Amino acid sequence: MFKRILIANRGEIALRIIRACKELGVETVCVYSTADRDAPYLRLADHTVCIGAPPASESYINMSRIISAAEVTDSDAIHPGYGFLAENSEFAAMCRDCQIAFVGPSPEAMGKLGDKISCKKLARAAKMPTFPGSEDAIEDEEEAVQVAQKIGFPVIVKAAAGGGGRGMRIAHNIATLRTGLKSARQEAESAFGNGAVYIEKFLESARHIEVQVLADSHGNAVHLYERDCSTQRRHQKLIEEAPAPHVDPKKRDEVCKAAARLVRNAEYVGAATVEMLLDDKQNFYLLEVNTRVQVEHPVTEMITGVDIVKTQIMVAAGEPLPFKQRNIAVNGHAIECRINAEDPANNFAPSPGPIDRFDLPGGPGVRVDTHAVAGYRVPPNYDSMIGKLIVHGDTRRIAIRRMEQALREFHVGPIRTTIPLQIELMRDGSFQHGGIDIHYLERLLKG
Ligand code: ADP
Repeated sequence: MFKRILIANRGEIALRIIRACKELGVETVCVYSTADRDAPYLRLADHTVCIGAPPASESYINMSRIISAAEVTDSDAIHPGYGFLAENSEFAAMCRDCQIAFVGPSPEAMGKLGDKISCKKLARAAKMPTFPGSEDAIEDEEEAVQVAQKIGFPVIVKAAAGGGGRGMRIAHNIATLRTGLKSARQEAESAFGNGAVYIEKFLESARHIEVQVLADSHGNAVHLYERDCSTQRRHQKLIEEAPAPHVDPKKRDEVCKAAARLVRNAEYVGAATVEMLLDDKQNFYLLEVNTRVQVEHPVTEMITGVDIVKTQIMVAAGEPLPFKQRNIAVNGHAIECRINAEDPANNFAPSPGPIDRFDLPGGPGVRVDTHAVAGYRVPPNYDSMIGKLIVHGDTRRIAIRRMEQALREFHVGPIRTTIPLQIELMRDGSFQHGGIDIHYLERLLKG
């Protein structure tokens, strides 16, 4: 096992990693920017290092500063958390060159699954269902038109290196396809330095389902079943749950197995999430693979009893997975609400600043992952998420009730949070029946 892990992240995930390290008997080094100087979780780390000014480019994504911090503290591994450098293969390679273990896949495996075109090819080989569309990067407009006519409009042009919804254009006809192709390329070139784009069928309505996979360096990959993350606004997930409601058990089994195969075939080590869309005829289609731990990992931990963050660290240290596929069973139902410092009554305007009141919910089956406390000031510089409320119940119905009550007990002020909206969602008939898709929340907000 490692002796000392440097955590290249902040907020709730930094705290989550500290907790996992404590259980494994590993020392922690937490890096921080001056905006996070007074954050209480820093006191729980064994060592802390200030790495720079608030802008992420001067701190949390500044690779050389993070590597230097690891070197001066004699850390033997770096856990990147999510966001920031977590899916940066250049950083993973830099760690390797400096003989620091990266808690995540090799740069090669990250590249294979992170590039959406190469990922799609690997997926087909692993019998993972993919969208109809181009096999490779699109060379020119004429090829784009041919592919679109073959699969039928609407189609979506997507960047191979895409992320954060950038480099995507939906086209309903040849004219918008031609302009979309150009602008998607330009956007991808400037955002990712890679203008390669491909085309696939666009689904008007779908659910977002993703499979959690864990893999070790001994050729084992095990899936931990799926999550439903359809409740989103502007592609940002707000509520996630596991297992996904109303999924055909046979299809679920097939895609979960295919997802594990895909990750194993990429010679991947660590936690991966295979994201898919599910149409109203129970057809799955691969979207992309995220090569890191995800914000919503706790719902899977709650239904499987597996500690995903601890397992990530164990496999990064070369240990085999401590379980086999047959040991993984789904127990009950879990829901997560992301508590963001945003005002849902005012178009989700950011609401940073000091927190005076922070009363946590409790009781059976209630978990809160947060770095905030009363007296904490939410800095304006980063993601607005200040915590995650996770509940577990024997059934989805009980989990929804439990979540509503927990949200009602959760008082945060004077900053605004997403809690009032989430209470409303727990009471909404469509949510309660599991009749949600990726446009559900935006429809509800408009109505
Ligand atoms: P990114 O990496 O930029 O987040 P994704 O491939 O994950 O890109 O897609 C982001 C979102 O765009 C999806 O969650 C979905 O809402 C929408 N989307 C992507 N591809 C399709 C598609 N073929 N049909 C319908 N919606 C899509």
